[in-house]
Amino acid sequence: MELEVVELDPTTLKTPPTEDFGFGNKFANRMFSQKYSPEKGWHGAKIGRYENFSLPPSTAVFHYAQEIFEGTKAYRRADGNINLFRPWENMKRFNNSAHRMSMAMVDAEEHLSAIIKLIELEHEWVPSVPGASLYIRPTMIATEPALGVHASSDYLHFVIVGPVGAYFKEGFNPVPVYISDQYRRAVRGGVGDAKTGGNYAASLFVGEQAKQKGYSQVLWLDALEGRYVEEVGAMNICFVYEGKKIVTPPLTGSILPGITRMSVLELGRDLGYDVAEEPVEVNEMLADLKSGKITEVFGCGTAAVIAPVGKFGYQDEEYIINNYEPGPVANKLYDELTGIQYGRIPDRFNWTLTIDVN
Ligand SMILES: *Cc1c(COP(=O)(O)O)cnc(C)c1O
Repeated sequence: MELEVVELDPTTLKTPPTEDFGFGNKFANRMFSQKYSPEKGWHGAKIGRYENFSLPPSTAVFHYAQEIFEGTKAYRRADGNINLFRPWENMKRFNNSAHRMSMAMVDAEEHLSAIIKLIELEHEWVPSVPGASLYIRPTMIATEPALGVHASSDYLHFVIVGPVGAYFKEGFNPVPVYISDQYRRAVRGGVGDAKTGGNYAASLFVGEQAKQKGYSQVLWLDALEGRYVEEVGAMNICFVYEGKKIVTPPLTGSILPGITRMSVLELGRDLGYDVAEEPVEVNEMLADLKSGKITEVFGCGTAAVIAPVGKFGYQDEEYIINNYEPGPVANKLYDELTGIQYGRIPDRFNWTLTIDVN
């Protein structure tokens, strides 16, 4: 890949915010993009100005949602350099999603080196404020200008980056989660294990309903029987039994294979917990909460890293978890994972890629 870096007039550049980062509404000056066509393959790779696209109204993605994305972060280390967390896994998953959505795959190495170059150019946008980071959003959309229903011939692949604040503004606060017994996120054999926008579009309606009831996230059950726990919002879910066993549902095809989930399993094992991927039946799980056998529940994903669940709402009943407080296992995993991400503790797993900007 020949990567063109477009010179930008320095007087036209925005300076990065130092506070009030928000989430996903401020972006650095530059973005990466490249195009795919059957004749040329991937071409036109460049890092240029973050700017609008101009696309015909007939563009395939507007009609049939052939789209994929990724989400990962760059973390400011105490020494001023920048860490990426397991970016190789994001590249792999991006291509798995592309494959499932019948899109062109990218060269994973080149995709990652373009991201590294972009971060090097925009390193000032990686915040130094505790808990803040630079969010990285690789995306691919189908760009063939045609309404026929088939896999697009053309694609646009781009990466935008923007600072995000700490997920937990008032400390490590548990979230209330609503269990939907009516609506489903994804079905086995569908696209639940691809990171594609349509999965989110389909979930918004239920998310809004949950918000009206006072919950901030939705826990999804399997679509075949409505009995097995799958995942929560944009996070995977873990249950702690008797303070020592961490259980998360197995990847059956309808669950997004989270990189934080994978890391919790590996780290949990390393820290001496029993770790298992086992089906979690919803009624058994709620009974285990009531009896105290389940001592903690938490979500895991790039945005929050670890998000303790304070209560479940299911069929007009509420189930308070650990007195609505974060438990010791969630605390430990959060400290260890964020410690590795920000370079505060040694990375014994080789999960981080450090970009030297000093
Ligand atoms: C991205 C995502 C996750 C979490 O994945 P991470 O790699 O840990 O950020 C979980 N569920 C869904 C539906 C997602 O889109």
